[in-house]
Amino acid sequence: MDTDLAENLARVRMKISQAALAAGRDPEQVRLLAVTKGMPASIIEQALASGITDVGENRVQEGREKWVRIGDAARWHFIGHLQTNKVKYILKQYIMLHSLDRMSLARELSRRLSREGLELDCLVQVNVAGDDAKHGLAPGEAPLFVEEVGRLPGIRVVGLMTMPPFVEDPEESRPHFRRLRCLAEEIERRACPGVRMSELSMGMSADYTVAVAEGSTIVRVGSAIFRGDDE
Ligand SMILES: *Cc1c(COP(=O)(O)O)cnc(C)c1O
Repeated sequence: MDTDLAENLARVRMKISQAALAAGRDPEQVRLLAVTKGMPASIIEQALASGITDVGENRVQEGREKWVRIGDAARWHFIGHLQTNKVKYILKQYIMLHSLDRMSLARELSRRLSREGLELDCLVQVNVAGDDAKHGLAPGEAPLFVEEVGRLPGIRVVGLMTMPPFVEDPEESRPHFRRLRCLAEEIERRACPGVRMSELSMGMSADYTVAVAEGSTIVRVGSAIFRGDDE
């Protein structure tokens, strides 16, 4: 087994645990999602052998090629922008979509899922930082969107996801993570059918410890695991 990979994973896991404990949280409540975009299937197999269970891909075609080889030995998460005409390719592979960000996508997803008799856990992507370069709903639009999407057959809304702009100092991401958590709490209080707010997908290599401190339940970490570039 690749020792760098094993070492990187051990370090990331330790930092997640420390951040969780420091915040009075149970480290078991934080899922480590290894972002494997750009990585060959052989490296994913090594990560699985090192105890990784969940992997994230951001391109439909690339993800499919790896799925053909690895199959359901990994739990696949789709984390990238999803074009509506590619929905049909993700239905059977992925256990969670992190990037539900528009009604046209939700409708197509629901149509296809219900036709196949399937359900999919989805996170609504929110652009908490108001960053023009990023996808996602404005925070003010999210509650109504979630309510409408929760009524669509096949779609289970299980939480929110955000991707703040890249920053040198992870502390700069903290207000964005906090805002996402508060938004999830606000949505939870509305108690909409078909909606749970149990997951917060937030934190990447540059800022995952801050995200854990702010309540993240899924950190999406790529380069810290596969290249050793940590915060
Ligand atoms: C690439 C990517 C990540 C991981 O980024 P790293 O900085 O490599 O940890 C997380 N989330 C999304 C949506 C990504 O595209």
